[in-house]
This record gives sequence, structure tokens and C-alpha cells, in this order.
Amino acid sequence: MNIETKCLHAGYEPKNGETNVLPIYQSTTYRYDSSEHIGKLFDLSVDGHMYSRISNPTVGAVEEKIAALEGGVGALCTTSGQAAVMIGILNILHAGDHIVSAATIYGGSINLFAVTLKKLGIECTFVDQEASEEEIQKAFKDNTKAVFGETIANPAISVFDIEKFARIAHKNDVPLIVDNTFATPILCRPFEFGADIVIHSTTKYMDGHAVQLGGVIVDSGNFDWTSGKFPEFTEPDESYHGLVYTESFGKAAYITKARVQLMRDIGAYPSANSAFLLNLGLETLAVRVEKHCRNAEIVAEYLSKSEKVEFVNYPTLKDNRYNELAKKYLPKGCSGVISFSIKGSRENAAKFIDSLKLASNVVHVADIRTCVLHPASSTHRQLSDDQLVAAGITPGLVRLSVGLENIEDIIKDVEQALYAI
Ligand SMILES: *Cc1c(COP(=O)(O)O)cnc(C)c1O
Repeated sequence: MNIETKCLHAGYEPKNGETNVLPIYQSTTYRYDSSEHIGKLFDLSVDGHMYSRISNPTVGAVEEKIAALEGGVGALCTTSGQAAVMIGILNILHAGDHIVSAATIYGGSINLFAVTLKKLGIECTFVDQEASEEEIQKAFKDNTKAVFGETIANPAISVFDIEKFARIAHKNDVPLIVDNTFATPILCRPFEFGADIVIHSTTKYMDGHAVQLGGVIVDSGNFDWTSGKFPEFTEPDESYHGLVYTESFGKAAYITKARVQLMRDIGAYPSANSAFLLNLGLETLAVRVEKHCRNAEIVAEYLSKSEKVEFVNYPTLKDNRYNELAKKYLPKGCSGVISFSIKGSRENAAKFIDSLKLASNVVHVADIRTCVLHPASSTHRQLSDDQLVAAGITPGLVRLSVGLENIEDIIKDVEQALYAI
């Protein structure tokens, strides 16, 4: 199946007489005939649902669909993108370990890495993603266990050189984790460029309609966990009577461990109803994302010609520093999200945003409706000035998430708001 077809058909194949639409199995529990069978479920020696903190048939169908879209061996849905990043990392690192991350990432992930993981004894070194391989190599330590970056960074709209980072990660025998939220598998499939784990906030384009928070972790199945660096994968797990993940689950060791160990213990699994809504979004993902890209390209061109705009970050613009990387990693488009800086003060940016009539001023992005946000006073408010600059944010920066309205209406709205400054 091609990707548009997978959006509709992967993960759920109704049999004779079954519902043609994915059903909502809104149940916490699953009934079995014998305690012996349930015992086997607890030992992970037979497949089956046990309790909806760990798996559920509706959520499972959506996980299969997303794994198919990314080209992975398995996926695990979570209640938010943040939960996916957290579990995705804790599945590899523990106290005393270290991670290397691109500095240009989502503000929430910066907080998680710099503050919360630090409290748990996990250290992070942020690197300039445009630095040379030699320079980035200097950030590695003996206890480095993973590398992290975002395909299209939120809100800097920079493009991550996945192959370069995969090379560096693999030279150090550690996996590359890529947050592919803005690109979605429609625009880029990081596994094809060497990434090992992909993470999404499904809250964004995958849901697309701003109705449901969610996240997902996808496992490529390609990373070799048996080098000796990752004993949690190769030594007995006492909480499962000495089960060894790489021996019992082979290529699916990572994603199985994330589910049966971390999801069991942390409990951030979405409800069947949430997964049903996410699935509705996924069904139209390909058509929506293509239209978001076409609309955003026109808005980016328009903004780049305005004398009130200092700069526009959108990789399809010819003079954008990521134009070449975008051609390689994002040949079908660069999502609907543009960031640009209004000339002059922070107040000018606020004036622009407050003057928009069609676009909604919301803490959200990647919605079917055009929406706008001032990162320096909202999502990235907690960052220091230095961190702001490292994340590619200026005081006048505006994040515009171009929706699916008629392009003439979007441009008219932007035009009148620029005029208001
Ligand atoms: C929004 C976002 C997250 C966090 O996702 P939530 O669903 O809001 O928890 C993580 N990464 C990126 C790139 C995001 O845009």
C-alpha cells in the first residue's frame, strides 16, 4: 500500500460482517476462562489484552497504523507528546546516563531534558545541530546512551540533518531518537535516513482537529541493543521472572519493553475513545498535510516580501538556510508552520497577533484552522534569553500555523494585521 492508502486501511481489517469503521472498545478489562490463561498473559508467554493501562484493541489498531506509516516494527500510544518523549527516553536511560540533544527543539522537551530528567539523574548536553560532526562528537561521554532531535523544530522551523546525526549516534553505538511531529510520516520517514526511534505529539497534525492530546513512540526495529551498553535489554527483568527482552522479542525488544515495563509502571495510556478520534484524523492526514504545505508556501512567500517583516523561517524559501536539507528530507513540503519576526519591538508582534481576525490566538499549532502564537511570551516563556536564542527565537517571533481555509482569506487576514502595525 502507498502511504495515502495506509492512512485509511492499515491497522484495522474488518472480517466478514464486522464493523467497517474501527470500533471503540471502551473497556478497562478483558475476560478469560481460566486463571492459568491470565497467568500466561502476565508472564508474556501468550499474546492478548490484559488491562487497558497496557493495551487495548482500539488503541492497538491505531498503533499498528502509525507503525505502518513510519515503516516501524511496532508503536506505543501515549496520552501526550510529552509522555511519549519521557517514556521513549526512560526506556533507554536511567540515573547516571547522558543524552546528546539538538538545542533547537520544542520548549517542553528542553524543560524535560534540562530540569526534570536532571532531577532523575539523567544529564543532557545540547548541541548546535549545524555544528560539524567533529564538534558534535565532543559532546559524547562514556555514559551517553542516546541522541535526540526534531525533523522540523518547533518553533525555529529548522531542518534536522537526520543522516548526519544517525552517523554520529551509530559511531558511538547509541540510538538516534527523532521527534517527527511537524513533518509527519507523510513528509518524512526518519527511519529511511537511519533514525532508530521516532516520536510524535499526535496532538498536532495526526489528530489535526485540536480535539485530542496524544503521543506515540515508534520503533524501527533496527537498533542493536546487544552491544553491552544497554543491560536493561539483555539482562533478566526481575519484574517478569527473568525475561530478557532481546531474546524474547528480537527486533521488537525496545517497543515491547516500553509497553510492558514503563507503560505498566507509569500508566499514560490513552483511552479507546481518544484513539478512535486520533484514527479519524489519521484517515485524512495525507490530504490535509499536502494542503497545509501548499497554503503555507504561499503565505511564506507573501510574508517574505513585506517590509514589516524582518525574516521568515520557512525552508522552501530559496534563501532559507535549510533549503537544501529540506529538498533532501522534505521533498513534498515543509508542513503548515511558519515562523517569522516582525520588525521592531515585541509590542509590534503583539499588535500583529491581536489584529488578526481569522487566525486564532491559541496555544496550539498544526490545526485545520489557522492559528498564531507569540512563543517568547507563551510556550517558551520559561526559557532564558540564551536558551531562547539557541532555540531560534527572537522577541518579535510569531509562529503562524497555516490552516486549510481558502488561501485568499488567509492572506487577506495577514495583510490587514500587518497594516495595523
Ligand atoms: C507539541 C509538541 C510536543 C509535546 O506534545 P504534547 O502532545 O503537547 O504533549 C513535543 N514535540 C513537539 C515537536 C511538539 O510540537
